Amino acid sequence: MRIKLDRTVCDGFGVCAKHAPTYFSLDDWGYAKLEGNGVVPEQDRDAVMRALLDCPVHAIIELSTADTKAGS
Ligand code: SF4
Repeated sequence: MRIKLDRTVCDGFGVCAKHAPTYFSLDDWGYAKLEGNGVVPEQDRDAVMRALLDCPVHAIIELSTADTKAGS
């Protein structure tokens, strides 16, 4: 899976960093920063999904892996 973090939406709850510290770090103000390029290998999927689902403001977005499936 691939994810994206919308920092303009992040409200600094820090839930993501608790669930998946490898992928999310918090800055000095408690706002999340995505570590790496957003690619999440299968074995880390559960932790990242938990972060995604638990983020109160839905700042973490799963990107479609089917980039070429863009309709007509
Ligand atoms: S859980 Fe959501 S709101 Fe909280 S720090 Fe992470 S991205 Fe930001």
